[in-house]
Amino acid sequence: MAVRVGFVPHLLPLRRSFSSAPVRRADFTHAVIGAGVVGLAVARRLASTEGTSTILLERHASPGTETSSRNSEVIHAGLYYGTDTLKAQLCIQGRQMMYELCAKQGIPHRNTKKWIVAQDDEQWGACLRVHKHAQSLGIPTRILSQEEAQRREPEVRALAGVVESESTGIVDSHSLMTYLHGDFENRGGDCAFLTPVTRIEALDGGRAGYRIHTTSAEDGSETSITAETVINSAGNSACHINNMVLPPARHLTPYYAKGTYFSYSASFPRPSVLVYPATLPGHAGLGTHLTLDLSGRIRFGPDTEWVDDPTDLRPSRERLATAIPEIRAYLPNIDEAAIDLDYCGIRPKLARGGSSVNNGSGFQDFIIREEEGFPGFVNLLAIESPGLTSSLAIAERVHSLLHK
Ligand SMILES: Cc1cc2nc3c(=O)[nH]c(=O)nc-3n(C[C@H](O)[C@H](O)[C@H](O)COP(=O)(O)OP(=O)(O)OC[C@H]3O[C@@H](n4cnc5c(N)ncnc54)[C@H](O)[C@@H]3O)c2cc1C
Repeated sequence: MAVRVGFVPHLLPLRRSFSSAPVRRADFTHAVIGAGVVGLAVARRLASTEGTSTILLERHASPGTETSSRNSEVIHAGLYYGTDTLKAQLCIQGRQMMYELCAKQGIPHRNTKKWIVAQDDEQWGACLRVHKHAQSLGIPTRILSQEEAQRREPEVRALAGVVESESTGIVDSHSLMTYLHGDFENRGGDCAFLTPVTRIEALDGGRAGYRIHTTSAEDGSETSITAETVINSAGNSACHINNMVLPPARHLTPYYAKGTYFSYSASFPRPSVLVYPATLPGHAGLGTHLTLDLSGRIRFGPDTEWVDDPTDLRPSRERLATAIPEIRAYLPNIDEAAIDLDYCGIRPKLARGGSSVNNGSGFQDFIIREEEGFPGFVNLLAIESPGLTSSLAIAERVHSLLHK
């Protein structure tokens, strides 16, 4: 659908009821920028409220072509984040919502479970801390006996022990996004693809809404629409959208942590559970782990590499050399010749070197907030892992921010 040219809204303070007012003040009540899994979930949730109209603006020709299709597709349990963090709260809530939605709508998924494996005392200490923390959050984890671990996955090495996360699983992220997209449109939402947002004006400081300028990716034509609220769900470009709206003193610099995946073409060994090495403090990610897709295909990764360009998605061969010993540590009989470069994804970061796990120094939580002084402008920043798992819960949170 092409973006409709907007009309100038009344420069009056907007009410927040989004009731079906006789005089509509803007073209849309809500404009969501970015049709990744989070933008789709948010737009779908907002479109469910009567008297609202929601448009989803996406620069590419279809939804979910950036980070949302370049991840591990894991439904995370929420093991690694401090009790008071948004990551813990939204991952736990989002995981439950995800399993329910997938079961109800027939979206392919599986409760594979996950093992966190330790090879020495230091790693086992880290595993036990995760186990204890999980218990305090009410997330089911258990310590496996050596006999059970050997029986279930004889090829997985865990010299010092295994903690199992029972609620971890996988989801077909493409089927999920196809469902969210369809359901958004069924609820009356509009999608505008090939529509990059290039400029945003806060009308009367946002009190009269926002004028969103776009340039067609097809023919370069420029147009604009108005919306009472703007939700910035632009993933790796979220800082750029932020900087279009907020004054220079509140501008943000984006950082990018690339993760490379490795494929495995041999039929042996083939564990049926996800395998993660114990995470020691200070790591930017969760180590080069083993995940599965719904067809049983193994992939290793992602690793972490800081890059300057968010479109730098080419896997590089040098990464393979570092990954192999990490993989061999928990899967010693791996056939190295069958491991190859696969694909990359890029995590949106707000600082270089920060940690996405644990609540220690440098930890970066999700940022989900209506920006002070800009009513109706909601920023979703640093939505890295577990953003896929949390997407439905993030949508609930945005909805409650806007419908206070
Ligand atoms: C390597 C890796 C592994 C991960 N593994 C997992 C996992 O196993 N489980 C999990 O829960 N999470 C995981 N994540 C996190 C998860 O993938 C992300 O949190 C989630 O996909 C983010 O979705 P999003 O919609 O915010 O962003 P995106 O998918 O990046 O979507 C943003 C959209 O905004 C659009 N956009 C940007 N700028 C503009 C503009 N100016 N105008 C119009 N459109 C614009 C983009 O084109 C894009 O489509 C992983 C992430 C990475 C990088």
